[in-house]
Amino acid sequence: AGKNIVYYDEVDSTNLRIKQLGDEGAVEGTLAVADRQTAGRGRRGRSWDSPAGESISMSILLRPQITPNQAPMLTLVMACSVAEGIMDCKDVCGEQQIQIKWPNDIIIHGKKLVGILTEMSTQIDYINHVTVGVGINVNLTDFPEEIRERATSLRLECGHKVKRAPLIAAIMKRLEENYALFMETGDLSQLMEKYSELLVNKDRDVMILGAKEQYVAHALGINKTGELIVRKEDGTIEEVYAGEVSVRGV
Ligand code: ATP
Repeated sequence: AGKNIVYYDEVDSTNLRIKQLGDEGAVEGTLAVADRQTAGRGRRGRSWDSPAGESISMSILLRPQITPNQAPMLTLVMACSVAEGIMDCKDVCGEQQIQIKWPNDIIIHGKKLVGILTEMSTQIDYINHVTVGVGINVNLTDFPEEIRERATSLRLECGHKVKRAPLIAAIMKRLEENYALFMETGDLSQLMEKYSELLVNKDRDVMILGAKEQYVAHALGINKTGELIVRKEDGTIEEVYAGEVSVRGV
């Protein structure tokens, strides 16, 4: 992963660049890295703030032989890899608790440090390619008013500036291993245990915000296809698909 790197000083969105490179036939593992995104995106048309010199904005092209309903698992594969990659860099918050907020965010001390956006390009019912984008707040010291309370950076949490290149390398190394484990079975059976250990929502009440319904439930963990297992207030167990759902702590 990340052997074929395209670097941009400024780009609209690294996910858009990778999707285009994917359509043009770029090889699996092609990585786009940008110093600044002018139109960084989150899920459901939300925006992602990535100012120059202070964050990591990168997207990787994958060509897995999987079906579209397996693709959201790649978000979890990446979340695991980013969390592990950050923890591997001992001089970066090595001792601090990095956690995953299912399905696509990484948080530290309860605040959002990383966002992940997975997008696929499909043809009828098979996948052409998948783009997994990662935005990491590395050296940001201030955030737009609307997210100031909820966002943080490695610099703010570790108390010193953090070099971006070694961090990208550590994450890509973990991704290579974790992606191989995922591809062996086509699910998360070999990653579930470590993902669950990093999961902030485990054994907590969460608010499930889906397109059609919203409800409070108790999160129990994830299953091998990456769904969040929850116990609803009436005692029934539900498996929530990672596609387009958000969770909030309650
Ligand atoms: P939520 O995090 O609210 O559950 P989500 O996971 O669907 O929602 P994402 O698509 O991951 O959200 O990220 C987009 C949201 O993240 C934006 O709406 C904004 O609130 C917040 N955000 C934008 N830029 C940053 C940033 N640099 N750091 C932290 N949070 C950000």
